[in-house]
Amino acid sequence: MKNNSFFVCPLASGSRGNCLFVSCNDFSILIDAGLSGIEIQRRLNAVHFEPESLKAIIITHEHSDHVKGAGILSRRYNIPVYITQKTWNACSNLGEIKNLQFFECGRSFKINQIKINPFSISHDAIDPVGLTLEFETHKLGIATDLGIATSLVKDHLQNSTVLYLESNHDPEMLINGSYPWHLKQRIKGRTGHLSNIDARDLLKELKADNLKHVILAHLSEENNCPEKAAAEVFKGLNGSNITLHVAKPDQPGKLIKL
Ligand SMILES: [Zn+2]
Ligand SMILES: [Zn+2]
Repeated sequence: MKNNSFFVCPLASGSRGNCLFVSCNDFSILIDAGLSGIEIQRRLNAVHFEPESLKAIIITHEHSDHVKGAGILSRRYNIPVYITQKTWNACSNLGEIKNLQFFECGRSFKINQIKINPFSISHDAIDPVGLTLEFETHKLGIATDLGIATSLVKDHLQNSTVLYLESNHDPEMLINGSYPWHLKQRIKGRTGHLSNIDARDLLKELKADNLKHVILAHLSEENNCPEKAAAEVFKGLNGSNITLHVAKPDQPGKLIKL
């Protein structure tokens, strides 16, 4: 039943942990593994996939909400971890990983039938990346944890069929919220996180002819709410056949089948 299909499902999203599941012809990969290994297993099971189907974990950057479970999952199921050398050097708590595969921004590579294009993003990590994953006519664009959407980011995300895009905060909620000033500045800054308005404006600039799904990701639980994010970003959608989803922190989102 799962053959010849491309599945995308956010297992977790937000500052408490990030993990995006992608499966193509029963070949499954995780983008980030920022929950405990056992919790990732539980969420995979909840969407009817087994951890044994995982063939790769790709890490976007070293922040713990993106890497927490990568070491344990890799050891338990013998899964290769794809990561940049600099990010690997900056990861202190992952333990030994036998199967490390290094990649570089700007150099595409293939994992099975999936072509991966990593590109640099602006975030306060050592070597943070956004990604596109291409398989047959499908293109998944992934950009979370970035302070600004540069032209490089826009170029890569063009013509995606699915976009997994950061919509971190509502600027007013952030300013009026309880975070200390320095943290507010960090989040708003060029190496922080995209706001709902940033996500809306980015979407406006992208060609949406093939776009079918937009998944809003990395929402702040303190400075945003799903309704506000969706309402703002909806204004930036040019196509009528696009479904807007909001990824959740505490449970898997909808399993999107293409
Ligand atoms: Zn993050
Ligand atoms: Zn981060």
